Amino acid sequence: MTNRILVVEDEAAISEMVGLALARAGYEYDIAHDAEQALALIAQQPPLLIVLDWMLPGLSGIDLARRVKREERTRAIPIIMLTARGEEADKVRGLEVGADDYLTKPFSLSELLARIKAVLRRTAPQATDDVIEVEGLRLDPVSHVVTGHGRALAMGPTEFRLLHFFMSHAGRVYSRNQLLDLVWGSNVYVGERTVDVHIRRLRKVLEQHGHDTLIQTVRGSGYRFAQPLKAVAG
Ligand code: CA
Repeated sequence: MTNRILVVEDEAAISEMVGLALARAGYEYDIAHDAEQALALIAQQPPLLIVLDWMLPGLSGIDLARRVKREERTRAIPIIMLTARGEEADKVRGLEVGADDYLTKPFSLSELLARIKAVLRRTAPQATDDVIEVEGLRLDPVSHVVTGHGRALAMGPTEFRLLHFFMSHAGRVYSRNQLLDLVWGSNVYVGERTVDVHIRRLRKVLEQHGHDTLIQTVRGSGYRFAQPLKAVAG
């Protein structure tokens, strides 16, 4: 499990160039040359985001986007689509099936990276007011109350935001840099070590009921909130 962006593009020159730019920006990436390959990679591990070319051999980009947005497990994965110049209808259809943004070819890599950042920030579902509960750890975003097996857990506002983010993004790995972007916001001037400091404080609070192990350190990548095991019906 890792922090990967999936690039779906059959033109090798473009996919390789995008891959290199992503790597330079600190992301990991996979390249799929068609939708079938993309679906196989998504089934293995839902990526952080998908950069999706519209014109693919076989199943089209729009069909792939539709499938991703239809499935409960993959619905939240943001999609940035790549369209050919002047294909207005593609953009409209893409946004209709749930793509989060689009770029028209030819595009610059810095533009793509900026869009990725913006989409990740926008789609961070911290806006929901739903109560989240995992293994007896319960967070209420409205009242700002966190309890462990019914007992209140006191924590600072940053630890609260961090925990809310983790609990609503369980199972995915985030680098320190991404946590800074997504939890602290883009206009703060703190370093990556700040993340470690607040993670340590948060774990300390969660230790009281053994919930600290839910926040996992992924060596060389960052942090992940453990995905709760789901009961399988039938
Ligand atoms: Ca193509």
